[in-house]
Amino acid sequence: MSRPLSRVVIVGSSLAGLQAAESLRAAAYAGHITMVGEERHAPYDRPPLSKQLLSGSWDPGRTRLRPGDAIDGLGLDWRLGLAAVALDPERRQVRLADGSVEDYDAVVIATGTTPRQVPNPLRLSGIHTLRTLDDAVALRTALDAEPRVVVVGGGFIGAEVAAEARRRSLPVTMVEALPVPLSRGLGSRLGQMCADLHVAQGVHLRCGVGVSGFEGDGRLERVALSDGSVIPADLAVVGIGSEPATAWLESSGLTIADGVVCDPFCRASRPGVYAAGDVARWRNPLFDEVVRIEHWTNAREQAAAAIATLLADHGLGPEPAPYAPVPYVWSDQYGRRIQVAGRTVGAEEVTVVHHEPDNGSTLALYRFGARLGGVAGINASRRLLPFRTMIAARVGWDQALAAAAA
Ligand SMILES: Cc1cc2nc3c(=O)[nH]c(=O)nc-3n(C[C@H](O)[C@H](O)[C@H](O)COP(=O)(O)OP(=O)(O)OC[C@H]3O[C@@H](n4cnc5c(N)ncnc54)[C@H](O)[C@@H]3O)c2cc1C
Repeated sequence: MSRPLSRVVIVGSSLAGLQAAESLRAAAYAGHITMVGEERHAPYDRPPLSKQLLSGSWDPGRTRLRPGDAIDGLGLDWRLGLAAVALDPERRQVRLADGSVEDYDAVVIATGTTPRQVPNPLRLSGIHTLRTLDDAVALRTALDAEPRVVVVGGGFIGAEVAAEARRRSLPVTMVEALPVPLSRGLGSRLGQMCADLHVAQGVHLRCGVGVSGFEGDGRLERVALSDGSVIPADLAVVGIGSEPATAWLESSGLTIADGVVCDPFCRASRPGVYAAGDVARWRNPLFDEVVRIEHWTNAREQAAAAIATLLADHGLGPEPAPYAPVPYVWSDQYGRRIQVAGRTVGAEEVTVVHHEPDNGSTLALYRFGARLGGVAGINASRRLLPFRTMIAARVGWDQALAAAAA
């Protein structure tokens, strides 16, 4: 017989955590839900942090994920500004930083990621990362002082910061260890198109080189590169990826391997423990590939899937389906929307099926074996969406090319 469900603890009060709470209430679960969040803010959205908030077109309040009355309507027991520091799956308890303990029948881990850092042994000011609302407000204030900017890392967040700094006409150098920025997400061909766009907008691009250190007297004055060159700078933004926030789970006995390892139903390795969002790793049956996905859409979809499993495990819902999403991410740079669906890394063939030189609208398909595995577009939303559906339907490469030609 399944265990009764009267206490759920959600750790991580952001996108996946809020979705988990909303899915529980939508399924008419009326029991107790404790929401534990390290940040003191009500749940807010991260994509605008590197876009509308950084540009100043939105104030911080506009990033809130739900209005106050919708949040109140969920009837949650909030523990904000308090980190979870340990999980005991035997006793079914979460311990918080103030020493208090939360008992649970089921716990959802939705603690996301924390940014990787470049060592800053001199503790210089002027070196930023961008993950939280507080980070974004601090970075916006720093940009207002019109600094010379170095962006370390040419991924989506670094590229969005570079675009905003250029919109402000600030001098910007982007340093990327790979030969082509954005190539991790887009592959080298579309990555190069985006690189050309950054260069055309005045970004100094330094590829194939890393940062060896930050120099200055109290404040950042120079960024030293691994090839011996030095870039004068007042502000560095480090966007070199992130690590799953699992340090607090060290003593839990859960299987952790670059994230909380889950089965295809979002169950972690001990009974009563589920995980979703940026922190969760599992084998995606759609591609038979072990992944951890750091995208907005996945955080919501996976949290909903985790709750479906949680309810089923307690006899409160139908048998869940394995979680088999088509990953999807977007990024906005210089007024262009970049979108990727499916997978691109390791593609055996990339075919550009649409390109309009005048406005840069571009669509590329990514082949894995005989199947369409991914699609990426620049200003091509309408064209991209049908391919997203085709990836979910596991269509063959030839069929995808035929659809593109039509
Ligand atoms: C600047 C920025 C821009 C982005 N832009 C895009 C975009 O354009 N498109 C896109 O698809 N994706 C984008 N993303 C990614 C997207 O926002 C994330 O995939 C999404 O936020 C993941 O949600 P999550 O709930 O899993 O994790 P998070 O949003 O990281 O939330 C995790 C929460 O858990 C809290 N937490 C961590 N440890 C503990 C602990 N021990 N105890 C209690 N609480 C804890 C954290 O403080 C945080 O509030 C962006 C991300 C950033 C940072």
